[in-house]
Amino acid sequence: MIVSTATLGKIIWVIGIIAWYFIRVPFERRAKRVRIVSNRRSAVDMFGLGSGLLGLAVIPAIYVATGFPSEADHATNVFGVILGAATFAFALWFFRRTHKELGRNWSITLEIRDKHELISGGPYAFVRHPMYTSFMLMGLGQAFLLPNWVAGLAGLAGFAVLFFLRVGKEERMMLEIFGPQYSDYMNRTKRLVPYLY
Ligand code: SAH
Repeated sequence: MIVSTATLGKIIWVIGIIAWYFIRVPFERRAKRVRIVSNRRSAVDMFGLGSGLLGLAVIPAIYVATGFPSEADHATNVFGVILGAATFAFALWFFRRTHKELGRNWSITLEIRDKHELISGGPYAFVRHPMYTSFMLMGLGQAFLLPNWVAGLAGLAGFAVLFFLRVGKEERMMLEIFGPQYSDYMNRTKRLVPYLY
């Protein structure tokens, strides 16, 4: 092989994270035009977002660029890289679908937008937080793609901090705004993984 399995995993991760950015940008631009009627931005949520960014982007990027922390490197095999690539690709496809479905109701933090609609179709029919499911799957893909305990697992750890600091508050906010409509939706769906959680 021309490149090692480890290098291949890193290259695929870099392509994946760049693709993630190009999927996100147009939605972020569009969302900026929609007025926010209720803003629940908090220091705790910003900390969660920072953790997600650190674990899913900054730490793995430093690892790919510098090899740090090389003491935590472990062996790779081609099946791990294939599994990682497939998981990451699926996560990106799912991430794009959730963005398309959520449309103008999307926010980077906890916010209610002008004429906010409760979305419960498409990926939102499977689970209540499909965008967070896609982050979890990206973290899982990262763990398989990067042969390093720290850089590999940082994504799942960062995701967990973001998710658990946020999800209870997000659901309380949605219940406050949508009342029984949201509690019915909660009864029909799991948070992240159909049938499980
Ligand atoms: N938790 C969702 C959405 C993440 S974006 C997911 O993982 O897919 C966060 C914003 O989306 C929140 O500020 C909230 O205003 C909005 N939101 C969350 N669930 C929603 C739903 N079912 N319908 C409409 N907006 C929702």
